[in-house]
Amino acid sequence: MDSMEPDPKLAPFIKPNVLQEQQYRVDGITTISRVPTTDKVVALTFDDGPYRPYTRDKLAILARYGLRATFFWVGTQIKAVPEQAEAVVAAGHEVGNHTNTHPYLTRISSDRIRSEIQTCKSLISDQGAPFIPLFRPPYGFYNSVVMSVAQNLGYLWNVLWTIDTLDYTSPGVSRIVQKVLQGLQPGAIVLMHDWPSQTVSALPAIIEGILERGYRIEPLGSLLGPVIPYCRHLWVASPYLRGEDVVSVQQALLKRGFDPGAVDGVYGPRTAGAVRLFQQQEGLHPDGVVDHEEYQALNVECPAGQPPPYPIYRPDQCRQLQVTSPYMRGEDVAAVQNALGDRGINPGPVDGIYGPQSASGVRAFQQREGLEQDGIFKLDMYPLLMINCPGG
Ligand SMILES: [Zn+2]
Repeated sequence: MDSMEPDPKLAPFIKPNVLQEQQYRVDGITTISRVPTTDKVVALTFDDGPYRPYTRDKLAILARYGLRATFFWVGTQIKAVPEQAEAVVAAGHEVGNHTNTHPYLTRISSDRIRSEIQTCKSLISDQGAPFIPLFRPPYGFYNSVVMSVAQNLGYLWNVLWTIDTLDYTSPGVSRIVQKVLQGLQPGAIVLMHDWPSQTVSALPAIIEGILERGYRIEPLGSLLGPVIPYCRHLWVASPYLRGEDVVSVQQALLKRGFDPGAVDGVYGPRTAGAVRLFQQQEGLHPDGVVDHEEYQALNVECPAGQPPPYPIYRPDQCRQLQVTSPYMRGEDVAAVQNALGDRGINPGPVDGIYGPQSASGVRAFQQREGLEQDGIFKLDMYPLLMINCPGG
């Protein structure tokens, strides 16, 4: 179903049965084919619906086990069988975007891509389903244009799959069950479809087989962290890139003739700019973000980190700095620094750079508010600091 070849440059980082992660890197949207967790948990996903009568049949089975799943809807189907859609929303399942007419997105214009995703998004919203930032490209075909458009429409995850049940080929109920149970692994995303009757017949045995093996079943969006409203924020991927890691990156850049500003352990705009120039020279995606590719290219040892508190997919476990998009800009950081200063907490200079001093200011504020003290400026802090959430 997916014929794209992995990028040889990324090959060492691609795990078996993970598709070509990050072949198309667009800031702010991440391609995942597995939730990066060591927990025994999997997500069930159903594409191409809603569908009569099988969606309702699935809902009854899921309800019997008290489970929630993730449906990737197609707009024309929502219009065709709205009562099935309504039942999904009423049962509290997650609904992601699978376009309006299920085209090959890589073969149509960017305007049509936009209208495909936007139309489906509106129809989902018309059904009263809460927005979750999950997009799945039909047939798993996507490119950087598709990702940019999806990202501009607020999607944070380009969702592929770990286990393809091949249920769309009607291989037989036991074969579908076997596919899932043989491919079971922590964080697996199971791809199924809403329209094959065999999927409905297979579902109870799939669920029981998964549970018997000690796995939990959770909706995908909830595994990928809190639903993030569409506003700019600073979210540092974990394992964290620490001050000393930034220093070694800055030193490596200097050695190669790129000026990262001061070698001060602050990953601010100047360091990011130097990284971008370096990326350009190396033919890497010039996004100013340091991760495994840049470590390798700079010949800096990948700093091993702690297990992530947020399950952001990364093909390795290096500490890294990843600013999610929509970006929190310099002026947003300055607003945070100002607000901290107003509350008697020293965030360092009000310079729009979210460095160690700002992070420790945030940590002090988190301590005062009884929040987790991780120094990361997250969305729940905007209201606490009485700053308007900057629209992205
Ligand atoms: Zn599909």
